[in-house]
Amino acid sequence: MREADFRRLLAVGLDGIERWESGFPAFASHPSLEVEPQAAIAAIDALVERLHDNYPYFHPDYAGQMQRPPHAVALAAYAVAARINPNNHALDGGRATAFLEQECVAQLAAMFGFAAPSLGHLTSSGTIANLEALWVASQLHPGKSIAFSEEAHYTHARMCDVLGVAHHRLPVDARGKIDLDALADLRPADIGTIVVTAGTTACGAVDPIHDVLAWARQRGVRVHVDAAYGGFFATIASEPSAKMDEQHWRAIAACDSVVVDPHKHGLQPYGCGAVIFADPTVGAFYRHDSPYTYFTSEELHPGEISLECSRAGAAAAALWATLRLFPLTAQGLGRSLSASRRAALLAAAEADASGVLVPVVRPELDIITFAPIAPGERVPASVVSQRSERAFARCERDAAPLFLAKWKLPRAFGCRALERVEWDADHCTVLRSVMMKPEHERYAADIARRIAAHALPERRL
Ligand SMILES: *Cc1c(COP(=O)(O)O)cnc(C)c1O
Repeated sequence: MREADFRRLLAVGLDGIERWESGFPAFASHPSLEVEPQAAIAAIDALVERLHDNYPYFHPDYAGQMQRPPHAVALAAYAVAARINPNNHALDGGRATAFLEQECVAQLAAMFGFAAPSLGHLTSSGTIANLEALWVASQLHPGKSIAFSEEAHYTHARMCDVLGVAHHRLPVDARGKIDLDALADLRPADIGTIVVTAGTTACGAVDPIHDVLAWARQRGVRVHVDAAYGGFFATIASEPSAKMDEQHWRAIAACDSVVVDPHKHGLQPYGCGAVIFADPTVGAFYRHDSPYTYFTSEELHPGEISLECSRAGAAAAALWATLRLFPLTAQGLGRSLSASRRAALLAAAEADASGVLVPVVRPELDIITFAPIAPGERVPASVVSQRSERAFARCERDAAPLFLAKWKLPRAFGCRALERVEWDADHCTVLRSVMMKPEHERYAADIARRIAAHALPERRL
């Protein structure tokens, strides 16, 4: 079914490209590029063989990292556009896809409630998107540092190093969110921008964006939102059934910049992040001259407002086609996020009932985190780590394997989240699972039961 759809869409798209091509004079391709059909098939066969050495991301029993196959529509649109291979650096590189990109970015901006005009573009990844946001932060507040939580994505510290900007780490509370008491102690004179995370990568915690924004606004500090993973949950934040803390999602609209990764929860293949700035005048920082690419029009070229040069026009085409079918609303793309969210709640309820799994953090989006600890038990961190490692390995060795992820919970956070753990180590390994596919809703309770079956403390085995 999945494959049939993809093949049909691909055929329709490739036929259309051939019709367009046939409007140009015929030409013969160069012999240097000719291949034996059998050799070409053998190369693909050999590739497929190598590709089997992967986790089965398509299957609900893969419930580990934030990974899943893109939607067939996205893949077909990507392949069809890549047949032309537009480059969204400049309008003469990818005229059609540059305009598609603008339409996509306008929809992303509207999802976050950013008032027009804002300024944004797609990027190769969330890392590059965040790099651009931090770079603009450093340009606006030279000499000041950038603050983010201990649970912010690891690339923020790295990119601050790349930019030569000092950074400041804020501790998190028991739920993995910026600790507002620690924020109150921060010296605002030193801080130019605070990064808040809408959905941390480890446990899906949403920082108290509303409160951080209020703190920052009174002190002239900017706020950047890293919603690389969690951003698309904005489509369902005000649905009562989603049980999300809506005020923090609404506050994004009043922040200075936001990053979201369509290649995570937006059904896209890798190579699709996005950054949006509320103030379009920050585009001036990107000003540069490109003597060989900006000459086909007086209009703004995408490369004039992005740090990267070449970018895949096919990524914009794929997102654009996907958004036609899955608009950024609760009833559009939001349906799949609602299902993922329900899956996480179901798994957490099942874990509670198991008596052998304690949630490290209650799921706020679609990530579940479990420590194998029995009720009332006091247990050293090293033992929790051993149990987690063992349960992880056993799940993968089952007749029908279940693929999870692990999380090395740092001690400072762990002390707050897991009260009954005795800290005999700097880290404690726990189990983590991203219920990223809507199909997980039907599998979640079973997945939690399967984890519980392998998580019994030693003495009960
Ligand atoms: C995944 C992620 C990133 C990095 O994005 P990439 O697309 O992997 O480069 C940054 N921040 C958060 C919160 C993420 O989850």
